[in-house]
Amino acid sequence: MKAVLDSEERALRPKSLSEFIGERPFIRNLHIFIAAARERGEPLDHTLFYGPPGLGKTTLAHIIAHEMGTRLFTTSGPALQRPADLAGLLTQLEAGDVLFIDEIHRLHPSIEEYLYSAMEDYRLDIVIDSGPHARTLQLRLKPFTLVGATTRLGLLTAPLVARFGITIHVEYYTKAELTQIVLRSAQLLGISIAEVAAELIARRSRGTPRTANRLLRRLRDFAQVSRVDKIDGTFAEEALTALRIDPAGLEEIDKKLLLALIDRFGGGPTGIQTLAVAIGEEAETIEEVYEPYLIMEGFMERTLRGRRALERAYEHFGRAIKGGPPTLFG
Ligand code: ADP
Repeated sequence: MKAVLDSEERALRPKSLSEFIGERPFIRNLHIFIAAARERGEPLDHTLFYGPPGLGKTTLAHIIAHEMGTRLFTTSGPALQRPADLAGLLTQLEAGDVLFIDEIHRLHPSIEEYLYSAMEDYRLDIVIDSGPHARTLQLRLKPFTLVGATTRLGLLTAPLVARFGITIHVEYYTKAELTQIVLRSAQLLGISIAEVAAELIARRSRGTPRTANRLLRRLRDFAQVSRVDKIDGTFAEEALTALRIDPAGLEEIDKKLLLALIDRFGGGPTGIQTLAVAIGEEAETIEEVYEPYLIMEGFMERTLRGRRALERAYEHFGRAIKGGPPTLFG
């Protein structure tokens, strides 16, 4: 079963920059950087993608290898346990190949140090033995591109970040972009769906293509079992309600955060640290992973005195606003 899902997931992945949905300035820039590197016959500069999960970072790593006409090797921060794991991967690379390290913020510091010379000089200095017998073995590497992805830019060390020539912030998608993604995925999976139904999925996808694709597959299950040929707006609405998907796509932590602000702190302003303790999350995770979407969607705002819940949050949870709606100057 997992294999089927994996191959479907792969089938949905845009293969080239032109298939990648969403008008982002970074797409235009990547086109230029890739064209320029190819013209010079050099690998693309090391590239770092950061942003919340499910927004296309892995997809972009695949696209880079495809557009450069090279191979992609994939690993992740926690998978690289020993320097030998890294050496094994790096020495396999041919000129121009792409090494993708997902969750690069979870790299062990000792491995990270090996990466510095590999990225900068395509050289790996491996220390063998310890104490008086310690020797350094130098391995020459082929010029390669390291593509890193992280949901937590704040946890990366400055020396590592500095070694990436290209740094790209991947942001949440608009409803219109997600609608296009759903329509494209439906076509690839042979699912017949009306545009209004695709919009309903988009609205509940929390700005995230991975969520949109997942909801589309769940709706396909409902349609299949109900012998429905085409998913229209009414059918989609019913199925999404049956799935108990939050109408704004909010997840548990989003809800906890907003409800803590409203119910425990009178709507704020509340300092991020206080809020983090109240819901048992790290302040940095809230700042980098959860809050951007809630701010973008107008559920809360960031003020000099702390976080504040906005009218949309009160409405969403059916809470009355104490002392009138919050104003900009609170
Ligand atoms: P991340 O690495 O950021 O967690 P992925 O690259 O795995 O995210 O993307 C998750 C899924 O979302 C992919 O399978 C892909 O099909 C889809 N996706 C992401 N970005 C786009 C996009 N811009 N256009 C179309 N589909 C996308």
